[in-house]
This record gives sequence, structure tokens and C-alpha cells, in this order.
Amino acid sequence: MKIYCGLFNIMRALDIKHPREEKTLIIIKPDALNRSLVGEIISRFERKGLKIVGIKMIQLSDEILKEHYAHLADKPFFPRIAKFMKSWPVIVMVLEGLEAVESVRLITGDTLGRKADAGTIRGDFSMSIQANIVHASDSVENAKKEIKRFFKDDELFKWERLDLEVLYAEDERE
Ligand code: ADP
Repeated sequence: MKIYCGLFNIMRALDIKHPREEKTLIIIKPDALNRSLVGEIISRFERKGLKIVGIKMIQLSDEILKEHYAHLADKPFFPRIAKFMKSWPVIVMVLEGLEAVESVRLITGDTLGRKADAGTIRGDFSMSIQANIVHASDSVENAKKEIKRFFKDDELFKWERLDLEVLYAEDERE
């Protein structure tokens, strides 16, 4: 145990990350804000053991939505999503953890809320495809782009949680 803690402290001092430690971007959408679900959503990610390294409330613009939803720009429903997403503020958040991108997608659930698995955020709180409570990055590559899209470097924080030793096994912290 002492050896692992020592190694971990050295890695921390040198800012060496576990190779599978990832950051992912979450948007808490206007439906969650209006339905007073923001705390519940954040709490689910926190209780899982994901670390919040950035969080703020912002107003989305047409410009940023076109970039963020570029893969949907040709779809007939795109103007509707854009209107929905910019009619109220949203919360953007960056979470960090081991294989965080996939882990967060599993917690988020399928796009169509009424068919998403019970126990997931969308499965528990959404009946809709458009109003599906949260956005979560779908790949490590996209997470990197999305985090840059919404956060400046000085809005992201490096901090070590105190409960790491009970959150991960020793070899997962190497
Ligand atoms: P996900 O958010 O699960 O990664 P997509 O990237 O396919 O899913 O879609 C982005 C968002 O666009 C969805 O979360 C949803 O809010 C909205 N959306 C997707 N398909 C539709 C649709 N057919 N009608 C309305 N909104 C949609």
C-alpha cells in the first residue's frame, strides 16, 4: 500500500495521468433546468465517483449550436433543437475519471428518453427524444473538441480527490 501511495504521489507531482483517465463534457439541457433536476443530475455523476473539474451556466448561441450539432445540421428537426437549446440557459460541466466518456454515456442512457433503460438519467427523467435532459460526449476524440468548445484552460481545475484510495483499486491508480 505504501509503495502504491508513494508512486501515486510521484505521479501526482509530475502531473502524470492514468492512461485511461479521461475528461468528458456534459450539458444539462433546458428541460432539466426548468424541471429543477439540475441538482439530481449533478448528484448522480458525483455519487458514481466522477470528478467535477469545470462547471458553469451559459447561454448557447446559434453559432455554437451549429458547431456542436454539426452532425445533425441537415436534419429537419435541427431548427427545433437549436430553438429549444437557446431558449434558456444551460449548465456545462466537465467530468473526469477512468474511462469517463463511456461511463457517463452509460449513466446518461439512450437518446430516446421513453425507451432508455430505467436507472439511466434519460430513462428515469425523460419521455422525449429532444428533451432528454443531458448531452454527454460520445467519444474521447469528441470530448476533447467539445471541452475546448465550451471551456477556456483556466476554467478547468486540477485537483485530487481525498477518497481515491477507496474509489479505485491500487492497480487502477498506477
Ligand atoms: P445523443 O445526444 O444521444 O448523443 P445525437 O447526437 O444523435 O444523440 O443527437 C443529439 C441531440 O439531438 C439529442 O440528444 C436530442 O436532443 C436531439 N435529437 C436527436 N434526434 C432527434 C429527433 N429525431 N428529433 C428531435 N431531436 C432530436
